Amino acid sequence: MLNLVLFGPPGAGKGTQAEFVKNKETLLHLSTGEILRREISNGTELGVEAKKWMDGGNLVPDEVVIGMIRNIIERNPDVKGFIFDGFPRTVAQAEALDIMLESMNIPISGVVSLEVGEQELTDRLLERGKVSGRVDDQDESIIANRIAVYTKNTMPLLDYYKNQEKHFGVNGTGSIEEIADRVAEAIQRIKNR
Ligand code: AMP
Repeated sequence: MLNLVLFGPPGAGKGTQAEFVKNKETLLHLSTGEILRREISNGTELGVEAKKWMDGGNLVPDEVVIGMIRNIIERNPDVKGFIFDGFPRTVAQAEALDIMLESMNIPISGVVSLEVGEQELTDRLLERGKVSGRVDDQDESIIANRIAVYTKNTMPLLDYYKNQEKHFGVNGTGSIEEIADRVAEAIQRIKNR
């Protein structure tokens, strides 16, 4: 079983790279952002609630996203592994994920962390906002809030995973293919451990 976390700030390219990894390694790709956006477009109660947080670039409450992930993991006992994208985003989420996976004897194998500077993140998100239709990609102050939320709530996870010796940093700048090659190398190192 290969369980990977694709980690990084908003705009680091997690979704793009997760697609490559998913296809190469036959993993189930779990993007909490995508799952939440699907709930919004289906007009579910969860979607209506989540939208309030997402449009301002704030985090949806831990218990909501943890519950979503738990449901999906429990419904997919036969997969080769998972690639988590945009989850966990807080220490509470990471602890809950560890407990879930350890109780099933399928712990996180490694965390691939995409490293990109703040100005490039903002430029990428504004560019994506022209085509993504995402409210949270179109406004510079919402983007700044997303990056601030990342710094405050999500960056502490770097130490959480470094302490577990599961952190693999990857330069997230350059062409999509160059980055994909670096991600593949990091995954090979994770597999060789
Ligand atoms: P993303 O598509 O990963 O950029 O996520 C878009 C938005 O969905 C975030 O700004 C949050 O509002 C929400 N979201 C996605 N994943 C999580 C998570 N793990 N915890 C809390 N909120 C999340």
